[in-house]
Amino acid sequence: MTTTTMTKEELKKKVCQAIENRKADINALAETIWSEPELGYKETKTAQKVIDTFTQLGVPFKDKLALTGVKGRLKGGKGSQYSIAVIGELDAIICPDHPDASDLSGAAHCCGHNAQIANMMAVTMGLIDSGAMAYLSGDVVPFAVPAEEYVEIAYRSRLIEEKKIKYIGGKPELISRGEFDDIDMALQIHLTSVPNDRKNGFIELSTTSNGFIGKMIKYKGQSSHAAAAPHMGINALNAAMMGLMGVNAIRDTFQEKDYIRFHPIITQGGDLVNVVPSDVRMESYVRASNVPAMVDANERINRALKAGAMSVGATCEIKDLPGYLPLNNDPTLNKLMGENAQHLVGDENVWVGPHLTGSTDTGDLSHIMPVSHPWIGSIRGQLHGKDYTVFDKDMAYIRPAQMMACTIIDLLYDDAKEAKELLSNYKPLMNKEEYLAFLATFDK
Ligand SMILES: [Zn+2]
Ligand SMILES: [Zn+2]
Repeated sequence: MTTTTMTKEELKKKVCQAIENRKADINALAETIWSEPELGYKETKTAQKVIDTFTQLGVPFKDKLALTGVKGRLKGGKGSQYSIAVIGELDAIICPDHPDASDLSGAAHCCGHNAQIANMMAVTMGLIDSGAMAYLSGDVVPFAVPAEEYVEIAYRSRLIEEKKIKYIGGKPELISRGEFDDIDMALQIHLTSVPNDRKNGFIELSTTSNGFIGKMIKYKGQSSHAAAAPHMGINALNAAMMGLMGVNAIRDTFQEKDYIRFHPIITQGGDLVNVVPSDVRMESYVRASNVPAMVDANERINRALKAGAMSVGATCEIKDLPGYLPLNNDPTLNKLMGENAQHLVGDENVWVGPHLTGSTDTGDLSHIMPVSHPWIGSIRGQLHGKDYTVFDKDMAYIRPAQMMACTIIDLLYDDAKEAKELLSNYKPLMNKEEYLAFLATFDK
């Protein structure tokens, strides 16, 4: 197909330059998405921006996947034996105190997912403008995905009842619908905070993170006059307090290696001060670094919560929901991403990070295929915080795209030798059937 020959390094250089040349378009895309934040499964305007850009670039795509997802495909000039996804999440978070939050919904992009879409599209532009696809033995799939943040659980539960979705999170939903069946591995970045005393941004390769099970907890008691007849009532708030104390009594049985986290909130604690509380609700996650520990801690926490109800004669209903699986980044993909990152931003600004106790639904994907999901230090303030601002635009929007594009070239150049080797040595933590079977355990 191509007549000129180009070495892998020349090709990488050309793609990086093509991304640099598109800087104005890429920054504009990041900023227009920033200016119209939308919450998960409602990202219609953001999806339209992705569709418009694919259309301008002549990239074929499928849309409305899991309501709002958009999936493009760039064909490899030397065959399509492998497909590498570049993932961008569409959704914002609720942060009404942020100066740029939407007045209507309180949504703001304080998790920086707008940068993920900008990076995904920058990779697409770079590969197209440079003509690099002609040299590659595999496809590239820029995939804009909905609903990474595990929020608005009541709204999404309604979508589940209406059979519009099956899962709270976008990636479990897309996996269950088969939208990752034609993808072999995935790259994605996430922005993170840079401490105030550090001048430069950085790229931290991510190793592992916690997963979690979502929980909705309801204590039912008996209302009565709180002063005149407390003996006629059953105090559901006391049941909930006893339940929480029960969990605290088993915390020292959780092992450090499993990074268990249980951090409940009471969302309804009673109705009137002179009525014995009869309906008390809590929400929580049970987080851990691995699935067996997550399931085990969840069972023991449920037992303790129920014991609280028993102590005062109340009842306790617990609804466990599939949350996210722990993130397991692939070491080979990480190595390639790291080497390319060092070329782009200098060795001193690239390192491998520790286990993190937060969670992402990319964890689910990382159980069934090789994934690399590094953290890009490019913001001041806190993730999800009202002080969140991007302070290094090149580090947020341009360098990660160059890093991912160069990694794709490493994988798919030279008859996709690297991709072939990686996949032949790869053993997934679960295959798709095992993964879906795990999700189905929550249906009971
Ligand atoms: Zn977030
Ligand atoms: Zn995020």
